[in-house]
Amino acid sequence: MANQTSDRKPLYRLHPTKDVDGYNFLADLALDMRTSWDHSGDHIWEQLDPALWDLTRNPWVVLQTVSREKLQSVFADPVFSKNVAELARERHEAAAAPGWFQQTYPQSPLKCVAYFCMEFMLNEALPIYSGGLGNVAGDQLKAANDLGVPVIGVGLLYQQGYFRQVIDKDGVQQALFPYNDPGQLPITPLRRQNGEWLRLEIKLPGYSVWLRAWQVQVGRVKLYLLDSNDAANYPAHRGITSELYGGGPELRLEQEILLGIGGWRLLAELGIRPEVCHLNEGHAAFAVLERARHCMEEMGHDFKTALSITRVGNLFTTHTAVDAGFDRFDPDLVERYLASYAENELGIACHDLLALGRGNPDDASEPFNMAYLAIRGSGAVNGVSRLHGKVSRHLFGPVFPRWPASEVPVGHVTNGIHVPTWDSVPAAKLWKQACGENRWGGTTEMLEQNILCLPDIDLWRFRSVARKSLVEYIRKRFTRQLAVTGEPPAAVEAAKSMFDPDTLTLGFARRFATYKRPDLLLHDPERLLRLLTNPQRPVQLVMAGKAHPADEAGKALIQKWMRFIHRTGARASVIFLSDYDMHLTEQLVQGVDVWLNTPRRPWEASGTSGMKVLVNGGINLSELDGWWAEAYTPEVGWALGDGKEHGDDPAWDAIEAEALYDLLEHAVIPEFYTRDEQGIPIAWVTRMRKSMAQLTPRFSTNRVVREYTERHYLPAAAAYQARSADNGALGVQVENWRQALDRKWPALRFGELKVETDGQYHKFVVHVYLNDLDPESVRVELHAEAIFGDIPVRHEMTRLHPLIAAATGFAYQASVPADRPESDYAIRLIPHHQAAEVPLEAARILWQR
Ligand SMILES: *Cc1c(COP(=O)(O)O)cnc(C)c1O
Repeated sequence: MANQTSDRKPLYRLHPTKDVDGYNFLADLALDMRTSWDHSGDHIWEQLDPALWDLTRNPWVVLQTVSREKLQSVFADPVFSKNVAELARERHEAAAAPGWFQQTYPQSPLKCVAYFCMEFMLNEALPIYSGGLGNVAGDQLKAANDLGVPVIGVGLLYQQGYFRQVIDKDGVQQALFPYNDPGQLPITPLRRQNGEWLRLEIKLPGYSVWLRAWQVQVGRVKLYLLDSNDAANYPAHRGITSELYGGGPELRLEQEILLGIGGWRLLAELGIRPEVCHLNEGHAAFAVLERARHCMEEMGHDFKTALSITRVGNLFTTHTAVDAGFDRFDPDLVERYLASYAENELGIACHDLLALGRGNPDDASEPFNMAYLAIRGSGAVNGVSRLHGKVSRHLFGPVFPRWPASEVPVGHVTNGIHVPTWDSVPAAKLWKQACGENRWGGTTEMLEQNILCLPDIDLWRFRSVARKSLVEYIRKRFTRQLAVTGEPPAAVEAAKSMFDPDTLTLGFARRFATYKRPDLLLHDPERLLRLLTNPQRPVQLVMAGKAHPADEAGKALIQKWMRFIHRTGARASVIFLSDYDMHLTEQLVQGVDVWLNTPRRPWEASGTSGMKVLVNGGINLSELDGWWAEAYTPEVGWALGDGKEHGDDPAWDAIEAEALYDLLEHAVIPEFYTRDEQGIPIAWVTRMRKSMAQLTPRFSTNRVVREYTERHYLPAAAAYQARSADNGALGVQVENWRQALDRKWPALRFGELKVETDGQYHKFVVHVYLNDLDPESVRVELHAEAIFGDIPVRHEMTRLHPLIAAATGFAYQASVPADRPESDYAIRLIPHHQAAEVPLEAARILWQR
């Protein structure tokens, strides 16, 4: 194979193996996050260094460690060389093949979506994530690659990964912060055309911070990362990007400025002009300011007009289910950091910038809420499950005062996971046989039928093999874990034969936060122990999870479990694996029979870990919260809770704990152990098949990214195109409309109202005084609460004649069927513009009664 000399980075030039033929290709392969789901190249890394590969699963580390002699010797083997050449060809073809997006929307105006997020979970080799949010972001980039949707990720590179967990002998979590050595991470410096490393200067109060830029390859999708660890920076500023979710509010604000403002500036430096900007959580909301600033520069408008033009191209996805979860900053802090940006670069008073992050713009004491800024800077807002959409409509009420919660403009796109990342090798094989090679590359309507056809025996064998692999993994990993924490040799030895490959295996792994109730199963330890150790129908439980280092309550929950495990009798049936990360998740979700999840409704916005077991034939037993509230039917799994909210009432926790034991004892365990003459649990397999067939496609990022594309990216790109055409003519019009509403609204009022009922209809006639406001810029509606469901009744009233003796006053009329009492109806005046979203862009409302 020829030595592919390209403009390779100094990083490799210093590397002693770089001049071996074929090295560059292996480097490209190792640097591509594709290795996290496409395992066709795994044998290469294994061949180069089996031990290191087994421990790290990090191709880049393997490649950097390997000797020149080893490389030369493997490449001397024609089979190896041929395999490598074959992989190169496949990779090239995959990158060039038109995807679902190119085939479905060949002439689309959508050329680029910038996807901003504080964390991305792509591969355990790149530890710049903490959990669920990063998972969603990483999996969406991967699906965008599969589908050919033109997405570019923007994030931060942290000098320290999220902490690594050790559990000491007393069951106490210890946090370790390993250094993220950029030379060991699968990233490359981002260079300009002329080879210069791209660096950005961002002005903070009194000084500049230099940002370095890095590139991560995710198949054909790119992720750009910024960090401040530049030699030109003052030492304290080199640490701004030191730690994910570390430090205090000031550090967080600095990070968010770098992400939002720095991130948008980076794209501009690269000549990238996205039509759509997707803010995945409010952390990156400053990007809307910087996007507007660029528009000001290009078109010569003021800030408000520029925001009107650009905001329709922005989408805000909220992931938070509790008000306390939003990032809020002290106004003085924001002022210190952004007053000069507001005044000198946006041309607005700092007060006006602060107003964008407040429920009540005039309340100078109100903190600055990043989610509010994101709402005011976006053309659409969505939550991440149906229930979370509803919860968010309540949480964001303060931005839309006097609007009914059901009309607060927040929709939902339910999360999913990138199936090829989370399926096991045997699961991928089973699905490939049933559904074909390119099953996650386009629409997925056919998958359900194909999986429903799989015979019991195949499914049961598949499940039994998966459980056995997990037990083997657990033995290996736990042996190492015990040895490292200094357990006596006898305990280490015993770990080598722990657990049983034929025993029902439950999994529980997640962040240890109190709202997730990881101790629900410990409510009645004696009953749990009886369930686990029943000699006829034993159960084994594998656990994992980290508590945030500052979360004492979360850490205490881990210790509670460790105490339970250490009592005699429980040791053989429960295991706590330390250092929950992506690699461990993979092993767990591929092997467990049942995945448990016990959050307090409605605090789990979506949850994704339960989705990862679907493709692998695991079944969910979960609280009716987040995604499970819309996924659950009695055929596909088990549900906890009554589908209502009960706050953190301990009495309700106790009821749910009992219900959980009952479910296990009377439903889950008997179904697993009731076998036919071939030893197959028919009811179990039937449930497993339905869960696999019906839920896997629905809760895949394949569906999610298609939904974002069709419901948000394409309309947002079109709306942005319309608003920005002719130097932003429509944007100017919309802004003028908004400002006229602002000026006139305080004097608008209702006059007399007459209601007549003639048997079948109520006829409403109302007088409205518009204070010279163009009547086309508002709408008068009859409104009634919904009787069923969430969607209220809205009737537009017809404008009749002008009122005599009023500058602009009109009579409006509407008739509605008299099947509801007249008193159910209210009359309201709301803004209206054919090209604008109401109330998102103009939240005024005036009620007649
Ligand atoms: C999937 C995953 C999560 C998200 O899990 P939830 O239970 O949905 O919160 C968090 N951390 C890791 C390592 C994961 O793999």
